[in-house]
Amino acid sequence: MSIEGGVGMKPNWINGAWVPAGSARDNINPSDTRDVIGAYAEAGRAETEAAIAAAAAAFEGWSHSPVEQRHDILRRIGDDILARKSEIAEMLAREEGKILREALGETERAGRIFHFFAGEALRLSGEMLPSVRPGVGIEVTREPVGPVGLITPWNFPIAIPAWKIAPALCYGNTVVFKPAELVPGTAWLLSEIIAKAGLPEGVFNLVMGPGRVVGQAMLDAPELRAISFTGSQATGRIVAEASLRHGRRFQAEMGGKNPLVVLDDADLDLATDAALDGAFFSTGQRCTASSRLIVTDGIHSRFVEMLTEKTRALKVGPALDPASQIGPVVDQTQLDQDLAYIEGARRDGANLRAGGEVVRCDTPGFFLAPTLFTDTDPAMRINREEVFGPVATVLRARDYDHALSLANDTEFGLTAGICTGSLRHAQHFKRHAKAGMVMVNLPTAGVDYHVPFGGTKGSSMGPREQGRYAAEFFTTVKTAYTRA
Ligand code: NAD
Repeated sequence: MSIEGGVGMKPNWINGAWVPAGSARDNINPSDTRDVIGAYAEAGRAETEAAIAAAAAAFEGWSHSPVEQRHDILRRIGDDILARKSEIAEMLAREEGKILREALGETERAGRIFHFFAGEALRLSGEMLPSVRPGVGIEVTREPVGPVGLITPWNFPIAIPAWKIAPALCYGNTVVFKPAELVPGTAWLLSEIIAKAGLPEGVFNLVMGPGRVVGQAMLDAPELRAISFTGSQATGRIVAEASLRHGRRFQAEMGGKNPLVVLDDADLDLATDAALDGAFFSTGQRCTASSRLIVTDGIHSRFVEMLTEKTRALKVGPALDPASQIGPVVDQTQLDQDLAYIEGARRDGANLRAGGEVVRCDTPGFFLAPTLFTDTDPAMRINREEVFGPVATVLRARDYDHALSLANDTEFGLTAGICTGSLRHAQHFKRHAKAGMVMVNLPTAGVDYHVPFGGTKGSSMGPREQGRYAAEFFTTVKTAYTRA
């Protein structure tokens, strides 16, 4: 897309300078497609390679930087995010489409993530052990991995970049950050804050642009010693294959088809609220969304009735309208994909209880009514593939054992939830659900920032993100032997 008609190109940040690109992309508001938020630089291969070279050159210095310097910079970034949270959240809601309240929550979370890793910088530690050989001592220490590439998706435009950038810098790595094409505005504001925080040049670089150009150039660069990726399974596989070719470490956090089990003894209000939140909030565009609601016979009809009523009552509208509870889908491609899945489920014989159609609002946007299907079969495509929209299905289960087997009947394994009053079933589910994160009497989405995040099976490859576990990915271990 050309930059004509834009409001001045927002440049990339490479080697301590703002660098415009040869072309730019218009950032369109999905709540009102007439609203062009701005034109953002689209880097090519040359700019990406310049950023990688800068990160490589800066590595030696930053990897030995004093921990207090790292603490102070990360602290400052967190402070600035929180000080500018209204501005950032408004940008996030405007370009991604989640409602302002959710955008604000995500922005605050990003600020706190930087604060968490500011503290971690002062807590870097190792081990000292005696050797089995007399007179020899051993130190086991953690060192940074090198220049790292961070590739992020559009659905959490500040939280996911924050939970990759903060630990990368905390542990002494240098960064090339490539945000998703649909959400450059939030990434740019975050980078503006980081650019002012006092990092030496080249330690942090922002390269906006298409995945097949910028992302591919990052995957092709042997200088990048690790790639942290979040996005679709298809791209995750490309990241994995390229990383193996270069003998580099990688982590890939990908999709989900997360089950929420509701047992006969569940609190009906709590269970329907958990399902409503998990399935539809953030327009269902969360990798942790509850897309399969697995409900046992005794509560099934009451659950379906109450959830249908609550789903139909949700107010869909522009992200910045305070009355909206559900914002638009992110773009036309995603809307078409959601509608194709809805049509497919109808054809397969699923019973449409709510939604299923686009919603007309005062502004032209990608509004889709939250959609609930019942009487679905585990083999239906709608129960096998990630839709990534406000679409959920109900599956009927005979009893707890049947519900657990339906929950685990998926190639994904990100989160799994259960609503029950039974301690025995809750305990059993925590141990036997095949997922990286398990929730009891809570929505499957909505996690803390100071504990590990990630999945099993087809949802994740590599070590966990977030909390102290981030050190597993962003550091490498050194064992030193000393004869006294
Ligand atoms: P995507 O895979 O299309 O894009 C993700 C990123 O990869 C973008 O920055 C994109 O530009 C880049 N990319 C695309 N092609 C590339 C290539 N050939 N080489 C290198 N980079 C490339 O995913 P998306 O549509 O932005 O995000 C939605 C997906 O993300 C969903 O599947 C969702 O479940 C998943 N997701 C997972 C988590 C998690 O932590 N598990 C969190 C959020 C989103």
